[in-house]
Amino acid sequence: MAQAASKTCEICVSAPGSHYCIDCEEYYCENCKLLHNRQKLSRNHAFQKATDLIPEGKSKCSKHKEELTLLCNTCNVPVCTSCVAGKHNKHDFSKIVDAIAQLREENETKIRAKTNDANQNLKKIEDSLKSFDNSVESVIKAINDEGNMIKRMVDKSVAEMIVLVKEQSKKEKEKLTIMLSDARSVLAAGQTLDRKRKALDKTRHDGGMVQKINTMTEEINKLKINSLLEFPNISFNRKSVAEDDIRRMIGTYTIR
Ligand SMILES: [Zn+2]
Ligand SMILES: [Zn+2]
Ligand SMILES: [Zn+2]
Ligand SMILES: [Zn+2]
Repeated sequence: MAQAASKTCEICVSAPGSHYCIDCEEYYCENCKLLHNRQKLSRNHAFQKATDLIPEGKSKCSKHKEELTLLCNTCNVPVCTSCVAGKHNKHDFSKIVDAIAQLREENETKIRAKTNDANQNLKKIEDSLKSFDNSVESVIKAINDEGNMIKRMVDKSVAEMIVLVKEQSKKEKEKLTIMLSDARSVLAAGQTLDRKRKALDKTRHDGGMVQKINTMTEEINKLKINSLLEFPNISFNRKSVAEDDIRRMIGTYTIR
């Protein structure tokens, strides 16, 4: 067992015991420590600097002045071997080194569990970040695709509407053209009659002339001025499409 007062190597009992083997609970000098760590059985023993050790006095039973090597599990206090027969009679005990080993193991297990959980969370977050990025990309693509489709539909509708306007206005224009040529021929006939009238004025005013004037009157009466048909007209009624209407047309998305 460790002897705080001496702190001399417990192996060679000459050099200062500046190292404490936690597993053997013994002080070692520099040389003996090296040898200890080379031996197969104690290769993995952990050393602590003697100066870092808690002063021995504090781990001694205040009643029996013996080392507190046991832990009373019933009272959850460290006790010495003499305490076992006294106040803590028939209580449940374990060696302090075992209790420490168990506590260390428990802590190690707890830390491992927590780091595992943290790791899993990290992975879940990274995964969801990646899949969220992918979802955002596909939503953007869908909006783009839908928009392009609407643009193509708009282009097609505009082209079709223009073709329709041209076709229908052509028919109306044809009616106007017929009216125009009718009016032209009436005008030409009128001008011809006027020339005939002037020529007739220059001939002799006799009985034959009366006959000719009557014939001319008949021709004048025959000349029909057609009443005008309704003129065609075309105008555009704007639907006043707002940007909101376009957005509604494209679709909606939900983000949580
Ligand atoms: Zn030594
Ligand atoms: Zn050892
Ligand atoms: Zn005691
Ligand atoms: Zn007890």
